[in-house]
Amino acid sequence: MNVIKKLVGAMAVVAVLLAFSCCSETKPIKALVVSGQNNHNWQVSHKVLKLILDNSGMFQTDIVLTPAKGGDMNEFKPEFDKYDVVVLDYNGDRWSAETDSAFLQYVRNGGGVVVYHAADNAFADWDEFNRIIALGGWEGRNEKHGPYCYWENGELVLDETPGNGGSHGQQREYAMHCRNAEHPITKGLPDNWMHGKDEMYDSMRGPANIKDLLYSGKAEKETGGSGKEEPLVFTVDYGKARIFHIMLGHCGPTAEDNPAMQCAGFQTLLLRGAEWAATGKVTQSLPADFPTDKSISLRKEYTVVKKW
Ligand code: ZN
Repeated sequence: MNVIKKLVGAMAVVAVLLAFSCCSETKPIKALVVSGQNNHNWQVSHKVLKLILDNSGMFQTDIVLTPAKGGDMNEFKPEFDKYDVVVLDYNGDRWSAETDSAFLQYVRNGGGVVVYHAADNAFADWDEFNRIIALGGWEGRNEKHGPYCYWENGELVLDETPGNGGSHGQQREYAMHCRNAEHPITKGLPDNWMHGKDEMYDSMRGPANIKDLLYSGKAEKETGGSGKEEPLVFTVDYGKARIFHIMLGHCGPTAEDNPAMQCAGFQTLLLRGAEWAATGKVTQSLPADFPTDKSISLRKEYTVVKKW
């Protein structure tokens, strides 16, 4: 066989392999971002969430917006069941009873949920929602909604002392501390890394049915925090559902002035948490620009290192 024939043969093999890899590619994960009311800049955050998800090449994301505050919630009827993961970016008027029960059915059937930042402020008096988020803040939350939950001496402490739920100090860059390096979401990520300028939620309360605490952070008293090590990223123990709760990501005034969401660490956790919530697995590797224990890493544009 001459050299040209060998080359042609090799190219044919490569072509077959490429065709195979193309056709056997996994389908995109279907995500739904729920937004439309928030005490935060939801007009920017919901679009940024979609950009982060879709730019990964793994997700195909739809957005559903509620009516404005005071509007007719009967018009808001998302088809949760069509999605692999629902990303909550919503803190506003209570949904209709029909939509409440459609959401509960989706979650109870083993649906995937991402609870993002102030979504854990929502629906303080909806008990079942509080069990879906495990911990929440503000909107009248206090000891009646559950204990204050923090991390101390290697374990979660449930503090029944009366008080309001939900607070944060000044926005700042802060260190993230891994508390479970074996979970699919955290596996292979550095134990400690610096997060871009953000709020750090503290004094959160609720049923505290945390399944796996993934990251905590120290809410320094000097910057107005609780002085405790606060649970910031975790999964929730709720039947068959896979729920990923990330308290990070306070949205800035514009997509480009938005360090908490531009943080490569935040984006990585969002993507890994959303993949896990949707499928139970994480197939993503550690991005080259992941922050270190010394320095933050912000992405100027919402494009990520593509694996797919
Ligand atoms: Zn915020």
